[in-house]
Amino acid sequence: MFKQLFCTALAVALLAATPRVYTTRYDVRRFHDCNAAAFYAADHPLVGLYRYRFQARFVGTTITHVPSLGYRGSARIMYSLAPGQSTIVLPRWSWPDMSASQRETLGDFADALRNHEIGHVEIALAGIAGRTSTITVLGQSFAQTKAMLQSAGDNQLNSLASEVLRTEKTYDRVTGHGTEQVEGPSYGFRGGENVKFGCR
Ligand SMILES: [Zn+2]
Repeated sequence: MFKQLFCTALAVALLAATPRVYTTRYDVRRFHDCNAAAFYAADHPLVGLYRYRFQARFVGTTITHVPSLGYRGSARIMYSLAPGQSTIVLPRWSWPDMSASQRETLGDFADALRNHEIGHVEIALAGIAGRTSTITVLGQSFAQTKAMLQSAGDNQLNSLASEVLRTEKTYDRVTGHGTEQVEGPSYGFRGGENVKFGCR
């Protein structure tokens, strides 16, 4: 009992201290009937989506004048998810006269998709966890050196983003964007229920 209380209190404290990693948005659609929704789901294999952007933060930037050489700039870069730009999009669908079993199927479909998208979030977070780069440049003026640091930082950020994107694509390939989510753990990714949608 005490342990549980302690864990709950700790979890609440951690959640309060950590900014929300992603926000959930909904793809709201009203279909003619369940079959129309199933047809849409089959025709749009990317129903369910995780969008995000990384950002780079410079730490300890220094630009020093080196006589007869120019200006030496150096900085350490730390990465994070750009606030407000980490979004999961999930279906929120309906049709008239939805039966209890159709409602359940739709709920399971959305839950499985959410689980799949959280796998994408985990890859993004793992991609930047503890990652830093150090850059050093040499320019002719203070302003030029500052611009060179910025552009070297942008390059580092772009290459990190491409690397993580490759992993995101691998995850989608091996899990069939969730339809084969059970395969995830064999490749070091999140597992869970397979994403499926049908009408009964
Ligand atoms: Zn996916």
